[in-house]
Amino acid sequence: MNATDTRAKMAALDVDALRAKYADERDRRLNPLEQAQYASVEGELGWVDADPYVDEPLVREPLDETVEVLVVGAGFGGLLAAAHLKKRGIEDLRVIDKASDFGGTWYWNRYPGAQCDVESYIYLPLLEEVGQFPTEKYAHRPEIFAHAQAIGKHFGLYEQAIFQTEITSMTWEEESLRWIVRTDRDDLIRARYVFTASGPLNRPKLPGIPGINNFQGKIFHTSRWDYEYTRGNHTGGMTGLADKRVAIVGTGATAIQAVPYLARDAAHLYVVQRTPSNVSRRGNQPTDPEWVGTLTPGWQQRRMDNFSRLSAGVPVEEDLVRDGWTEMFRDLYTAFGWAPEEGEEVTPDVMMDVIERTDYLAGEKMREWIASQVEDPETAEALKPWYGVLCKRPAFNDGYLPAFNRDNVSLVDTHGAGISEITTDSIVVDGVSHPVDCIIFATGFEVATSANRTAGADIRGVNGEQLTDHFADGPRTFHGFYVHGFPNLFLLGSGNNAVKGNFTDMLGEQAEHLAGVIVEAQAARGARIEATAEAEDAWRGTIREKTAEIRQVAANCTPGYFNSEGDVERSWAANTYGGFGGVPEFTELLGAWRDRKDLDGLTVSS
Ligand code: NDP
Repeated sequence: MNATDTRAKMAALDVDALRAKYADERDRRLNPLEQAQYASVEGELGWVDADPYVDEPLVREPLDETVEVLVVGAGFGGLLAAAHLKKRGIEDLRVIDKASDFGGTWYWNRYPGAQCDVESYIYLPLLEEVGQFPTEKYAHRPEIFAHAQAIGKHFGLYEQAIFQTEITSMTWEEESLRWIVRTDRDDLIRARYVFTASGPLNRPKLPGIPGINNFQGKIFHTSRWDYEYTRGNHTGGMTGLADKRVAIVGTGATAIQAVPYLARDAAHLYVVQRTPSNVSRRGNQPTDPEWVGTLTPGWQQRRMDNFSRLSAGVPVEEDLVRDGWTEMFRDLYTAFGWAPEEGEEVTPDVMMDVIERTDYLAGEKMREWIASQVEDPETAEALKPWYGVLCKRPAFNDGYLPAFNRDNVSLVDTHGAGISEITTDSIVVDGVSHPVDCIIFATGFEVATSANRTAGADIRGVNGEQLTDHFADGPRTFHGFYVHGFPNLFLLGSGNNAVKGNFTDMLGEQAEHLAGVIVEAQAARGARIEATAEAEDAWRGTIREKTAEIRQVAANCTPGYFNSEGDVERSWAANTYGGFGGVPEFTELLGAWRDRKDLDGLTVSS
């Protein structure tokens, strides 16, 4: 579309009507309970969290040991932390995880159709180093899991990992300058440095639906798939469902990948929707070996940087990834390429209007796509999302929308209300019972509930202060990594820094940076590294400044985990280094900080 066409389309939008529609759809979904609407998978619901994938439960003696670095979490974050530490010569480390292997999210999420939704050539980290290449543009879960295992092997991490083990407490001991770490297997580990890489999406959550424990049929969460019941594997073939009525609850990124397989294999599938997702074209393809042959050293980081810049609205010469994500970002950032016509004055209000219209236009394009894929107009209408394109994670899948054209698939639209009750044999929506044999919850994960819950342990710093208390008003860190009062603790992830759409790229950047900080501090003979209170306060101020616009946008968004179900001040939107250009800006900021070599903001002592 050329600039004149875009202008004409933008001018033709009925902005008042769209604004009212978006606000109406959002208001209907706001739940005064916010996060409290979800049930923790513990106590009566503890069975939800159990690991169905362990072949042999581990039996071992408790450990009593001292290590230089403990890495909590064996997903890509933990793997990248360990890999970069080793590259910098730090060999004495332990990796710990409650799963029975490496992989993190790719260990747990084995649902049929599980596949990376960011291009695998940039999502699977360390491809050049490990010497692997994905077979598809969007690799499926077994291949991603195998890649995580390959990284583990490549860096000799299996010998240093303890699996099926959960940390229960971590306490800073000033005399020894060590973290005293205890686990549910009675291990005692004294670690000089601790990296937490437990991921933001590691605890499954269920909606707090009355009667959930009364259901007599089969119930499980997508991240704990019960293949014993369904039979089959990630490619489908779920013969166990051939005579079953199945309900999948939720229509987020997970459900969208699983639905095409369930639709094919179940006798009848009910897709229970609270809020529709933006679902666009995927276009997966096998990897072209000729193209692989043309790649030159360093290609992966260049491709990652290209995606990261483009997705932050920074102009790039060429879009290397060229997929649904980058097309969407190009659409959304039309506003930046938008040039005033002669005599037109560009005030901030004009710019806000352009940004708003750009978003509506991108939304219209997605809704048109949905209508073109679904035969029944009423179902197509119900599947259309009415909220800002980036309010929820956009999805890309070529099987989800056509699944609704099948006779054995019904959309149960709850119009924002969710399931009201579960009885012994049915789900109840808006007073109507739907008898089912199996309920699969694709209802996502706890995001940023509390620092202790995310890490899975009671973390206490100097003078016994709890990390959760330190974060009572939201995360308080320096650069998102270091916490005043919690020396030698490094938080990997997206809590209080810039969030890249390509998570593994972000984790790799952080891991490399932090490994460098430790080496730098050790060179200065400092074994104790702690953020100053001033640096932490200043960083909080920086984040508030950077998120002024994003907080406003998030407040108008339909509820979801991006805006903490409407509790915007606690959300990612309010606490990360966001805003247009945020991601590359944060990368530059870290680089400049590193180059100064003064570890400004940290106290390094021995
Ligand atoms: P989400 O949190 O994105 O989605 C949960 C779904 O459950 C939503 O549709 C939500 O509706 C619905 N829900 C919640 N409560 C109820 C209720 N009471 N009744 C009916 N529906 C309800 O979880 P996902 O597991 O889908 O995805 C989580 C994240 O994991 C993604 O955003 C993405 O970051 C990542 N992911 C990545 C993938 C990849 O890279 N391949 C694949 C899958 C996931 P509502 O929207 O109204 O809250």
